[in-house]
This record gives sequence, structure tokens and C-alpha cells, in this order.
Amino acid sequence: MEYIICDLKKDYGFSLDDVIKYSRRVGRPICSICGVIKRYVMNKIALDLGVDAIATGHNLDDLAQFIFSALFGGRADELRKLTLYTPSESGFVARIKPLGMLSGYEITLYADIEGIEYVKVTCPYAPTSGFRVAIARVLDELEKEHPGFKRYFVSNIIRNIIPRITPSTEEMKRCKYCGMPTSTDVCAFCRLRKIVVGDVN
Ligand SMILES: [Zn+2]
Repeated sequence: MEYIICDLKKDYGFSLDDVIKYSRRVGRPICSICGVIKRYVMNKIALDLGVDAIATGHNLDDLAQFIFSALFGGRADELRKLTLYTPSESGFVARIKPLGMLSGYEITLYADIEGIEYVKVTCPYAPTSGFRVAIARVLDELEKEHPGFKRYFVSNIIRNIIPRITPSTEEMKRCKYCGMPTSTDVCAFCRLRKIVVGDVN
């Protein structure tokens, strides 16, 4: 497959480092801002290429943390998307998580045995304390005491809870700047870009 690199600065006029200066005005934590950017850019490229689905590298640890956090916050709509397969809907390309039932440890172990190179550094913006970090720690402790906990937790929620969540009836519109699907007049990416670059055209 062709390897495509998106240069945010070149293609959209700002980098994640630029966003940091405005994070207070954006009103979102940096991981959430990065998520908005990644989802937007990946969906845009996938639409341009006309592919069937976007495969992301989320693993079992990521899913267990996201699901726990969405359950805690009662964010049913977010929880609905935390499956291994999210079908394409209203301008969003389908998403698959082929590594979703494998732990980070299993994946790195396999890569090490097979001699597959991967990036070993963690994100410089990744938080070292706070709620998300505490959730990860608690889940790791449960896994240590009850091996297989994360796999049961994630598969039980995906199999038995998520199918019972009614999809949101929120009407999808098109962003007035970029034409991408959004529930508001301006999509989250263009709102962000407007704050950082001051112009979206
Ligand atoms: Zn937009």
C-alpha cells in the first residue's frame, strides 16, 4: 500500500505545536484536539482515495480505557463507536480496529520477535497524571490480578451493551467551510483551524 504522510503545517497551515498555544481558547485537552485532527485528516484522505475502510491501530488497552471513560461519563454516542467495526455513515468512511483485541504487550512482543520496526517513543504531549492515567493504572492492576480481564471487559461491552444503544437522531449537516459531515454549522476541525490560523479558506 502507498504510504501517505499528511503534513499538517503544509496542508492546513498549522501544526500541533501551534495548537498548544491556543489550547485554553480551544477549550479541549490536547489529546482531544489531536483526536479531532486525526479523525478529520484520515477521513478526508480516505474519502479522496475512495477506500472501503480506515484501519486504525487501537489496541485492547486503548479500547478498555476509552470504554471505561465513556461509561463513566455516560457518553453513549461515543461508546457506540468503540466497536471493532464502525460502518460508514453520513460522509464518514467505515472504520475497523484489527488490533483491537490484542494488548499493547502482545503487539510489541510480536513485532520484536518478527523484527518489525516501530516507533518506540511516547507522544511528548501524553499526560503523565490525571483521570486517564488513573484509569489505565486501575485497568492494569485488574488485569494483573485477573488475567484476561481487559479482553472480557471489552468483548462483553461490544457484544452485549453497545448493540443496545440507540443511534443518535442528531441530524448531520455539512460544514460551511469544508463540506465535511458535522452536527453543527462548522465542523470541529474548521473551528480549531479558525482559532489557530484565523482563517479557514
Ligand atoms: Zn469544516
